[in-house]
Amino acid sequence: MYGPVPSRRLARSLGVDLVPFKTCPYNCVYCQLGPTTRHTSERAPFFPVAAVTAEVLERASASRPDVITLAGSGEPTLFAGLGDLIEGIKAASDVPVALLTNGALFRDPEVRREAALADFVLPSLDAGDDAFFQWVNRPVEGLTLDEVTDGLVRFRDAYRGRIWLEVMVLQGYTELPQHLRAIAARARRIRPDAVQLNTPVRPAVFGFVRSVPEERLASFCNLFEPRAEVIAEAQGAIENAPFARADAERILALLSRRPCTLEDVCTGLATVAPGTLKVLEALLREGRVSERLRAGRIFYQVKRHGGSGAARSTAP
Ligand code: SF4
Repeated sequence: MYGPVPSRRLARSLGVDLVPFKTCPYNCVYCQLGPTTRHTSERAPFFPVAAVTAEVLERASASRPDVITLAGSGEPTLFAGLGDLIEGIKAASDVPVALLTNGALFRDPEVRREAALADFVLPSLDAGDDAFFQWVNRPVEGLTLDEVTDGLVRFRDAYRGRIWLEVMVLQGYTELPQHLRAIAARARRIRPDAVQLNTPVRPAVFGFVRSVPEERLASFCNLFEPRAEVIAEAQGAIENAPFARADAERILALLSRRPCTLEDVCTGLATVAPGTLKVLEALLREGRVSERLRAGRIFYQVKRHGGSGAARSTAP
């Protein structure tokens, strides 16, 4: 367990490492943890669920993180107790749970069922065709990109929480137009709530792995739907990033001007999603905000009540 640590995507995040070091179905060329030592897609009960749950709850209660992030030095869905762990956390804590995953095991319905217990799922997609997938992610033998994509599409079909899809862009490789266009086409099938472009900023397994300058990453955003955002930053900037706290009055002021998705609110107010979602859910419960599904995305808007016409129509 580590943190809470500041993270641009997830604010003060309490990280939970669910697998022994470098246990992963991938062996990505850009991995900052070094070569995969246990290359597997077999799930296993690496740790006792009850002990992990108790430790997470104790740390969460003492440190009050914005989110509990299930991740680690490998692939967290390999932990066979994942579903029980999430259920145990959610039964005793209101801190949102996020799952960072490479999605390799989502072809398994049981993995999809367990992952769906999380509030946020952040899978990665680094390739648009199988040859590039085999090169960049170096998966366990027999695993294909189509299987991974189909698993994520099925997950999307059933999952009501947020999916933020991360694409790792490597200079001179992924940034080539044919790769980016193919990745964007696959991403559209997965229908994520947000697409986030990243690039390796720390030393990787292979020396040829280079990061893409931020301005260049930004030029790729329009290829994706929804439009991608750049999340890559110098590590110092991430660690020193200021986060605005989600605040009900600011959110209501924004929603009174136009309906917004969770991602719109976070962008508009420079807040982070877990805390913002909590405030939105409270506003929904209080009946001050309503939600509407449009083109597969949830929009929040201020509930208008009939009356004397005294409401302000001008934006501040
Ligand atoms: S999926 Fe993550 S942990 Fe596994 S090899 Fe790739 S970067 Fe490393």
